[in-house]
Amino acid sequence: MSKLISFILCLTIFQLTTQMSLATTVMDRPWPAANSETLMTPKDFSTTAIEKRPLFVFAFVHDDIPASAIDSIFHSYFSDWVKEITAVTGRRVSVEFVRNMPPYSNYSYKAASDISYRGWERLARNYRDEKNLPHNRTTKFLLLTNSAIINNVLGVASSGQQFDIASLIGKQIVGHELGHMLTANHDLSEVQYNGWWCETFMRDVTPGLSNCYRYSDGNRELIKSFLSDAP
Ligand SMILES: [Zn+2]
Repeated sequence: MSKLISFILCLTIFQLTTQMSLATTVMDRPWPAANSETLMTPKDFSTTAIEKRPLFVFAFVHDDIPASAIDSIFHSYFSDWVKEITAVTGRRVSVEFVRNMPPYSNYSYKAASDISYRGWERLARNYRDEKNLPHNRTTKFLLLTNSAIINNVLGVASSGQQFDIASLIGKQIVGHELGHMLTANHDLSEVQYNGWWCETFMRDVTPGLSNCYRYSDGNRELIKSFLSDAP
């Protein structure tokens, strides 16, 4: 059976001062059965028996991201997501930035989204295997880019898998793509009210709405469920 079961392209119309449309792409594949996961735990990843394994995010900073933006990437794109995912899963989160490291940091991501995703998946899998990092549900390999992948596609992810690409064009795109990697979906996204109308991480971008920096309750449950039997 083809590894790629289905390919879903989701478009969001989004208007700023200039008209622009945003999209993220999801490749929907089921995560393999838990017993097919790599069980090894490298030294740096050891956890106590009673503590759940943290989420490890390897964030590859593409060379096209301006040096002036790099210092604020964690604060601008990750910190709210880390708070949310820690609250939802009870797991600690480690984000490790990888910079200036060809062929990862200069990967030619501008291509049709499925081709771009496949190329990144191949590269990042090599990185994972060369570094003896785990093949499991709690280790993710994310390429951060300065620009859209192509046209209106701002991110691409495969549901429940380890690899994705997220542009820094919107503040919630990192959390959106990481959400896909933890099986959150668009259908359960919401507009909520927190003093103003805001969109949850998995929601398409709508003019005039702010960011909630959280998942909807439905997506929180999906994420919890996905990780419930992970070590
Ligand atoms: Zn999406």
